[in-house]
Amino acid sequence: MIPLTPGQIRGSFVNLSRRQAKELSVPQLEEVAWDTLDFFAWRHGRAADRSYLVTEHGDRLVSLALRTSEKKGLTPRSGMCGVCCTVQEGGNFGLFVASRAGSSGRAGNSVGIYLCGDLDCSLYVRGIKPRLTRKQMGETLPQRDRVARLQLNLAEFIDKVLEE
Ligand SMILES: [Zn+2]
Repeated sequence: MIPLTPGQIRGSFVNLSRRQAKELSVPQLEEVAWDTLDFFAWRHGRAADRSYLVTEHGDRLVSLALRTSEKKGLTPRSGMCGVCCTVQEGGNFGLFVASRAGSSGRAGNSVGIYLCGDLDCSLYVRGIKPRLTRKQMGETLPQRDRVARLQLNLAEFIDKVLEE
């Protein structure tokens, strides 16, 4: 990713009101290793069930507000991340739900995806963060293709959020 500013992130939310986005606290960005990321994501400090994600989508930036349904945001069971295809143990795996953009979202429609609980998908596909469970898929794809698959999966999810 290209390095982003808090203003760029706040200005690209598709499923928050302008006011909600403006009031959102964005973490410190100086230390972020942008070149290792396909998306930048963080959890809300106090509300553990709320997360935020920003990525390049086509020729623009898209930020999403996400909610996790479980109390602590993560399911106790294991499963495969819908974006990076890493198999995660329970406790680092959860269903993240985004309100749809525009009138569809205001009418209460949402779309969900199972993700790594730590949202470090970009680091797993690059081997920067080790996969903790041995139960991974028999993966033969080179790293470059795994990164491309991650980006494609994420883009498909964002398209669903943007769908009117
Ligand atoms: Zn993942």
